[in-house]
Amino acid sequence: MDCIFCKIANKEIPSQVVFENKNILAFKDLNPQAPVHILVIPKNHIPSINEINSKNSSIVAEIFQAINQIVEQENIKESGYRVISNCGEDGCQSVQHLHFHILGGKKLSETLS
Ligand code: 5GP
Repeated sequence: MDCIFCKIANKEIPSQVVFENKNILAFKDLNPQAPVHILVIPKNHIPSINEINSKNSSIVAEIFQAINQIVEQENIKESGYRVISNCGEDGCQSVQHLHFHILGGKKLSETLS
């Protein structure tokens, strides 16, 4: 499958990894929108939130546990941060592999849209 995040998960494409376990990889965004901008992905291919179901939803809990560790590691746990997952065309999802953006390290804009 020609998926850039699968290639990053398989280490076919290099990335700056900040966290990894059996099921999850977190790496720095190539085009950071904040001083801390990390992408957290399941290693297995799930296209988007739309494909989360009763069989695969446990990965979402695992991802959020990983996020909790990552924000501590990146020293943004106390100051605060934002977690975003864009979905579909109107959500401006550009990579069709489920991912959660962690943004922080500065006061973020109040607007989400
Ligand atoms: P989306 O727009 O789908 O929510 O987010 C995709 C994100 O992936 C973007 O912020 C983009 O900068 C990032 N991205 C795209 N290709 C690569 C890549 O090859 N390496 C890394 N580290 N980030 C990427």
